[in-house]
Amino acid sequence: MKVTKPDYIFICLDSCRYDTFEAADAPNMKSLGELRRAHSFACFTPSSILGYLMNFNPIGLDMGRLYPYRKWGWLPTELRNDGYGTAFLTPNAAVAAMDLSLDGIFRKSFTVHEFLKYEGPSAVEAIVEDAVGFLGQHTPAFLFLLLMETHAPMYDGEKVKVPYPVQRPSSVYDFQRRAVTFIDGALEPLFEALRDRENPHDVIVTSDHGDLLGPVKWGHNPSDLTLLKRSMIHYSEELFEIPFIRGSVA
Ligand SMILES: [Zn+2]
Repeated sequence: MKVTKPDYIFICLDSCRYDTFEAADAPNMKSLGELRRAHSFACFTPSSILGYLMNFNPIGLDMGRLYPYRKWGWLPTELRNDGYGTAFLTPNAAVAAMDLSLDGIFRKSFTVHEFLKYEGPSAVEAIVEDAVGFLGQHTPAFLFLLLMETHAPMYDGEKVKVPYPVQRPSSVYDFQRRAVTFIDGALEPLFEALRDRENPHDVIVTSDHGDLLGPVKWGHNPSDLTLLKRSMIHYSEELFEIPFIRGSVA
């Protein structure tokens, strides 16, 4: 009997807090399955992304691992060895820096890796187009999308917002909420492609960490300092509270 291997789609909204996601109008993502409140195991991108790619799941989900592959295994390699085409698509410059620091770990292990081609205030539409194109060429497929509209500078489909350092926290909160809605609409062609595809799929929507939205502490990067050399952040549950949804497109 032939075993069908599902497409694995991992959609990570960089810096998206649980509360802004929960408040957002996001029918595409929210129709995948139950929205759960989880905690990330790191508060900044590189640690979190490397953890996900080593099959670690967020805290509080009783999953043991993200995918049915080895714990601690490097997913791009595990999946490639299992016949998957693998793609990592993001405009996040931190990923390019990680790739350089870690001897080309992304370049070497993904079939397709794009982290320098996307420009402009928003990349999600171009990423979705590339993701749909990738699905057309690879079955089964593993797609890791690290989307940045929820990360500073945020983008809500109309305007760019740089939230730091002196703004009303509620206005930034509302902006991130609208960025989630914008991403949700932009994902429509990908969800349509999954709906039309013969192969089964498994979509995860989550975030890599939360975000502090003031009024005193901002952001999520432990190495960011103010002009007075004080840390931009302090410990807070808001740095770690993230959304998690898993399911398939109806
Ligand atoms: Zn991040």
